[in-house]
Amino acid sequence: MSINNFFDNLSNKSFDYYTKKDTDYEKDGKIYCGICHKVKVQTLYLQNMAFPAVSPCDCELKKDEEKQRNLKEQENFIKYLSNREICFESFKDKKNEMYNKTFENSDDDKHLDYCKKWAEDFNENYKSTDSLLLYGDIGVGKSHQATCIANAVLLKNFTVKMTDFAEIEKNQGDIGKRKEYYNSLNDYDLLIIDDLGVERNSEYMQEIVFYVINKRINSNKPFIITTNLEITYILNCDDIGKKRIYDRLIGACEPLEFRGKSKRFANRIKNKQ
Ligand SMILES: [Zn+2]
Repeated sequence: MSINNFFDNLSNKSFDYYTKKDTDYEKDGKIYCGICHKVKVQTLYLQNMAFPAVSPCDCELKKDEEKQRNLKEQENFIKYLSNREICFESFKDKKNEMYNKTFENSDDDKHLDYCKKWAEDFNENYKSTDSLLLYGDIGVGKSHQATCIANAVLLKNFTVKMTDFAEIEKNQGDIGKRKEYYNSLNDYDLLIIDDLGVERNSEYMQEIVFYVINKRINSNKPFIITTNLEITYILNCDDIGKKRIYDRLIGACEPLEFRGKSKRFANRIKNKQ
């Protein structure tokens, strides 16, 4: 019996789910896939009426999975591009520069392996990840490493925000909506606050810094702080307003010391030669 005859013998002829392939063949009243040899169409009888029962063969299932996977990949990539844009939105015309700061593009740095591992370990259980305090000399790569972490974590499709307190103050909006704005920073899976300590030195600013850091710690989500402040200053600060901020930080962060000559300065000299 040919495939056409097979269908002729069935009372229900709407084979919406079956597309005939040249390799398909008929055997014992069923249609088989010529590649995986699974049944694609068979006849079911109900009250003496014959119905075609169409089911996908293994090849079709695999193709479906592949299609779904491709769609998911595409969706994730679009999500990643949008997350990356949001992460570095305050860097405006320097965004591309930020996008290019990756571990792969980095010079061998004392902390590269540690930061890379930290980013690699960032997964669904990220809430148990230790936060980081990157401190030490100016221009030795603290912000650079933090940016590399941001890019690596973004690639895993997590949301990241990189900002600083001057930017937070600038974006905080109307007085009635400020807490809402500060709290919204905890929507991100990872929050990176660059250059703690360079913000205006005022009681008002300290309130913002404390509020944001305290809320972040209470949200149980990881964060990274970079600062040029010395650890001895952080540990021994007797300014009450600052001390309560630093105490929270010390309790929540893994400290990572950056030492050396300023790379930025060295690069500038190199470029002049
Ligand atoms: Zn097949």
